Amino acid sequence: MNTILIGGKVCTPGKLFDPGVLVLDNKSIKTIENKSKFIIPKNANVLDTSGCWILPGFIDIHIHGLLGYDCMGPDLDQVIRKLPEYGVTSFMATTMTRPKEEINSLISHMASVLSDPPVGARCLGIHIEGPHLSPERPGMANSEWFSPLTTNEVDWLQNIANGLVRMLTFAPEEGTAIDVIPYLIEKNIIPVIGHSNASYELTKDAIALGLSQATHTFNAMRPLHHRDPGVVGAVLACPSIVAQLICDGHHVHPGAMQVLLNAKGISRVCLISDAAPFAGLPSGKYNWGKQDIYIDGETSRLADGTLGGSHALIDAGFRNSIDLLDLNISEASQCTSMVPAQSIGIGNIKGQLLPGYDADIVVLDKNYKPLLTIVEGKVIWRATQ
Ligand SMILES: [Zn+2]
Repeated sequence: MNTILIGGKVCTPGKLFDPGVLVLDNKSIKTIENKSKFIIPKNANVLDTSGCWILPGFIDIHIHGLLGYDCMGPDLDQVIRKLPEYGVTSFMATTMTRPKEEINSLISHMASVLSDPPVGARCLGIHIEGPHLSPERPGMANSEWFSPLTTNEVDWLQNIANGLVRMLTFAPEEGTAIDVIPYLIEKNIIPVIGHSNASYELTKDAIALGLSQATHTFNAMRPLHHRDPGVVGAVLACPSIVAQLICDGHHVHPGAMQVLLNAKGISRVCLISDAAPFAGLPSGKYNWGKQDIYIDGETSRLADGTLGGSHALIDAGFRNSIDLLDLNISEASQCTSMVPAQSIGIGNIKGQLLPGYDADIVVLDKNYKPLLTIVEGKVIWRATQ
């Protein structure tokens, strides 16, 4: 039986169907058309979406957890179940720096969850963020556990992850890490610069070798100075590299976000949440990776005020990009769905509402709050009225 979403504003790459109809066929999108010409077939599962926005589901390629559940370990199971409540239909389970023995056990748990995942958002793989970072730009990570990236480290991680590592954030200037970029690409792992104090020149060399993405641009990276443009300067100057951006309104000033958008264009800015495992929880003191984290309702910080991940999920980033950056719905949707999908090589099946694409859909109310989430054709979550 086909599921049909009828009456909503269906946002496709080139056109808004308002009111429109989105017809699903099993796991895929079958057709998108105007409501006026549409005849409802018999035996269809019809969902009235009048007055709502119909968008491709959000894809968060940098998220550590939510609601007390950490992606890094057995709680990945709960992350998969909870993410559709925020309109997320697929994501990369992101790790953090921990001592090696702990990484061994936690990533093995992740691989075990992913061998038989529960119903929920689709986990697209593991994103390793640490321990191959710069002690000069640790963010909240503990630099005692850092080590430069080598091919052996890649093999170690891919081995414990059962081949599920798809993305790796590292500082290319540490040791001979820059030389590992071709090896990462050979192993089908996306090389991402982050927590890096690299010079402009070294970053450009890394991009020439295939470095294709920057983790939470501006945060934990060498900033732009006009005589020392650093990592930020190279990200702004080189068209090919995709810039991840935390759009929670706290990590990056709206003016800096606008500079990034102007320099890169919509198609190279990928919104991420970088949500901490305590994202979405009430204010209070929590513990993440043996560090105390203080939630104040809007941010997640260490005792000294350092931001430790984000408190907002990507649906809030979507709304912020409209409120703070004046993006229109289509542009905001590109930054939260199309660009992330394209940046990890699945732009031909996910991230847009097009016939033949996976039926990953979020229905938003007029205030852009999620009402219903469909993952690969199945209604996974619905807001209680
Ligand atoms: Zn992160």
